[in-house]
Amino acid sequence: MSPFVPPDAEARRAVRPVICYPVETLPPAPMQLYGAARETLERIGEVVVPPRDARCFTVPAGHFFRIRSIEGPQVGDLNLWNANDLSERFYSGKTRALHGSHLTTGDRMWSSFPHLRPMATITHDTLGWYGRDAYGGAVHDVIGTRCDPYTHALLSGGGQYHHCCHSNLTRALAGETHRTAVEAERDVHDVLNVFMCTGFTQDTGQYFMKASPVRPGDFIEFFAEIDLLGALSACPGGDCSSEHSSDVARCFPLLVEIFKPAKGALDGWTSPERNAYRGGHGM
Ligand SMILES: [Zn+2]
Repeated sequence: MSPFVPPDAEARRAVRPVICYPVETLPPAPMQLYGAARETLERIGEVVVPPRDARCFTVPAGHFFRIRSIEGPQVGDLNLWNANDLSERFYSGKTRALHGSHLTTGDRMWSSFPHLRPMATITHDTLGWYGRDAYGGAVHDVIGTRCDPYTHALLSGGGQYHHCCHSNLTRALAGETHRTAVEAERDVHDVLNVFMCTGFTQDTGQYFMKASPVRPGDFIEFFAEIDLLGALSACPGGDCSSEHSSDVARCFPLLVEIFKPAKGALDGWTSPERNAYRGGHGM
């Protein structure tokens, strides 16, 4: 028996969508100021992230950082925390609601409640040309959560794999903060999938991935709006053209570079305040 379909089904489907969060009302990022400041950058540090592993890095507020492809196509899973308060962390879901499923230049990475403020602003993206392909795929998504050993165990009948991005991020954060894996794991959160090319299938709405268009030399650049602790995992999926959660895919390192703008280049800029909601919740 076919399921009940109301007589006005087509009329209901034909209702026009409205954008949930018109970003025009967000406080604009001062992209001109950032653009001028990035002309003055001096490289002050770098961290190489080995394949199938993760590393932490810190970026002071008002500095820039780049994630760069160096030896071959490779996807990276990025976590960000307020370096002075790890309870303030990147909020992938709200960032997606505000900016859409994939991020590029001008978009911001927003922090968790009750803070909800920009943690970082994307100031350059050499893959900005990619746009949206014929499959609905695009680069740098905030859809996928991160590959993790729990989902892998579910889908593989109990398989034990220790180099999923979730575990890589957990080990890196545990090392950085001198805590156990169990303690550090609580602070690991949904990621920005750097260089990953993903979308939803038109017919079934399933999350798909395809070979990343990234090539050595490509980079995505961020402006740190607050003091940041970052962790980046070089996903065991490599360019994510076939599978992850295994040692099958070819994987390459990623490079994180930290840059300092010249003195005075950011005159007039201040780190964003915490969210204006006062937290009463009607109590
Ligand atoms: Zn991964």
